[in-house]
Amino acid sequence: MLMRADRSGYDVIVVGGGLAGLVAANAAVTRGRSVLLLDQEGAQSLGGQAFWSLGGLFMIDTPEQRRLGIRDSRVLAAQDWFGAAQFDRPEDANPRKFAESYLDFASGEMRSWLHGLGMRWFPVVGWAERGGALAGGHGNSVPRFHVTWGTGTGVVAPFTKLAYQAQAEGKLDFAFRHRVSELMTAQGRVLGVRGEILASDAAPRGQSSNREVIGAFEFGADSVVIASGGIGGNHDLVRRHWPQERLGPAPQKMVSGVPDYVDGRMQQVAQEAGAGLINGDRMWHYCEGIANWDPIWPNHGIRILPGPSSMWFDALGQRMGAPCFPGFDTLGTLKRILRTGHSHSWFILTQKIIEKEFALSGSEQNPDLTSGKWAAVLKSRLGKGAPAPIEAFKAHGADFIVRERLDDLIAGMSALEPDIALDADDIRRQIEARDREIDNRYGKDAQVTAIRGARAYLGDKLIRTAKPHKILDPECGPLIAVRLNVLTRKSLGGLHTDLRGQVLDGAGAPIGGLFAAGEVAGFGGGGYHGYNALEGTFLGGCLFSGRVAGQNA
Ligand SMILES: Cc1cc2nc3c(=O)[nH]c(=O)nc-3n(C[C@H](O)[C@H](O)[C@H](O)COP(=O)(O)OP(=O)(O)OC[C@H]3O[C@@H](n4cnc5c(N)ncnc54)[C@H](O)[C@@H]3O)c2cc1C
Repeated sequence: MLMRADRSGYDVIVVGGGLAGLVAANAAVTRGRSVLLLDQEGAQSLGGQAFWSLGGLFMIDTPEQRRLGIRDSRVLAAQDWFGAAQFDRPEDANPRKFAESYLDFASGEMRSWLHGLGMRWFPVVGWAERGGALAGGHGNSVPRFHVTWGTGTGVVAPFTKLAYQAQAEGKLDFAFRHRVSELMTAQGRVLGVRGEILASDAAPRGQSSNREVIGAFEFGADSVVIASGGIGGNHDLVRRHWPQERLGPAPQKMVSGVPDYVDGRMQQVAQEAGAGLINGDRMWHYCEGIANWDPIWPNHGIRILPGPSSMWFDALGQRMGAPCFPGFDTLGTLKRILRTGHSHSWFILTQKIIEKEFALSGSEQNPDLTSGKWAAVLKSRLGKGAPAPIEAFKAHGADFIVRERLDDLIAGMSALEPDIALDADDIRRQIEARDREIDNRYGKDAQVTAIRGARAYLGDKLIRTAKPHKILDPECGPLIAVRLNVLTRKSLGGLHTDLRGQVLDGAGAPIGGLFAAGEVAGFGGGGYHGYNALEGTFLGGCLFSGRVAGQNA
C-alpha cells in the first residue's frame, strides 16, 4: 500500500470514484501527491453516474457548433446562464463566481484539454433546455449540448485509464467497498476518514450491492476531497428538501434516474464535521421519466430527451401552454404538472414524431453512440422505425400506448390511470385545434411556431425535429401516448466551497484540509446552477470542480 514514509497516511484522500473523484485524484497525482481513492461500491462501478450518462457536455463556441452555423459566445452563454440561475441569495456569492469561472473554462481550454485526452463529439450539437420565454430568461439561446462519442463511457474512460496507470506507477491506491462514515477532525481541521469495510459483492455495475459490514478502517491525510455525488437515489432526502413553496407538494410517485448508491449519506457526514450545506432546496428532476421495462437499479426510470413536437397534456387532459413544451423548461413544466395534484402527465404524438424526435438518456439506451461507430449510428438513426431501444419501449414499456384511432388511444390512457376521468371529446378538440394551425406556414400556436423555429437550425432539421404535420393525419400514425413520471436526478445545491474547492463551515470560514467537488458540491461552490440548469453542465461541472479540487487539495 502506498502510504507516506512515516505511515501517517496519504497526501490526499478522495471519497467517491465518480467522475469528479477521478478527475480530482488524477489532478492531485499530477502534482506529485500520494492519493487514496475510496468508494463504497466495487471496482466494477468505478466512474459512478457518469458511466450511465449520455455524455453531453456544455461547451461554448466550439468547432462543432461553428460547422453547423451556430454563433455562440461567452457573452451569450453568460446571458443564458444567469437568466437561468436567477441567483438571489447572499450565499450565492461563491456559486456565482464558480459559474463565471466555468464559463471561462467552457469557452476556453475545456475542449482542447478533453480533446488532448482523446475525447471526441458527435457532430450534431444538441439543443437542450430551450427556455421558451424571453431572451433574458431561462434557457439556451443556441445548441450547446455536445454528446461525447462513446456517451458517458467515453467521458469516464480517459480518467479511469489515468487512475489505473497511476496505481501501476505506485502513485495512487484504490480502496473499494470502503464506506466513509466519519471525517476525523482536530482543532477545526480534517485529518482523515473513518468508516466501514463492506463485504465484496459481484453485483454488476449499477445494481444494488450489499451493505454487510465486515470491518472498519481509518486513514489519515493532509487533505480530503469529498466527491460523493448527490441525493437523487434517496427519495426520502429528496422529499425532505423538496421546495414545496416553489414547485408545489413533492410528487407521491417518482422513478429513480440514478443508482441507489447516490444516497446523499456523505453530505450528512460532512455536515457533522462542520461543513456548510447551501441551496439544498434546489434540485433538477425531470418530468419525462418512464419506468424502465428492463431495470438495472431499483425503481429505474429513463428520461426521454424529447424533440419539440409531442403535444403535452397534464394528468387531467389539458394541453399545457408556453413554456411547457417538450425540452424547453424543466422546472417550469414540473411546477405546472404538480398543480393538478397529480405527478404524471402525457405526451400524445405520432409514429413520425417518435422516429425523429425521441432520444433516451443513458449510455445503455444509445448503444450506437456508445459504440462510437458511425455505421451503427447511421443504421440506427436513419433506418426504418425509431432506434431499437425506443421501439423496445413501445413494445414492452408500461407507460406506452400505441393505437390507430384517437378514441382507442384515450381509452388506453384511461385504463392506465383509471382514477382520473379523461374527457375524450375535449382532448380531440384540443388536438384538432392545434392541427388546424398546420394548414398555414404561420399561425398563433406557440408550440407550432417553436417547431418551425427549431427547424431553422440545421441539426434539428436533420435529426431532431419532425416536419410539422397533423397529429391526426393517419399517414403519420399510429398514434402514441406516453405516460410521463417525475424522475429524480440531480442535486443543484450542496457543500459550500470557495473557488479553490475548499469546504466552508456554516459561518463561511474555510475548513482546513477539506475539499469538495462534483454533485456533492452543487457542481461548484455549493450550487453553480442557481435555480435552473442548461444541461451538459453536470458532467461539465464535475470535470471543472474536480480538477480545481485536485489542484488545490
Ligand atoms: C442516466 C444519466 C444520464 C446523465 N446524462 C448527463 C449528461 O448527458 N450530461 C451531464 O452533464 N450530466 C448527465 N448526468 C449527470 C451526471 O452524470 C452526474 O451528475 C455526475 O456524473 C455526478 O458525478 P459525481 O462524481 O459528482 O458523483 P457520482 O457519479 O454519484 O459518484 C459518487 C461516488 O461516491 C461514492 N460514495 C458516495 N458516498 C460514499 C461514502 N460515504 N463512502 C464511499 N464512497 C461513497 C458512490 O458510491 C459513487 O461511486 C446523467 C446522469 C445519469 C444517471
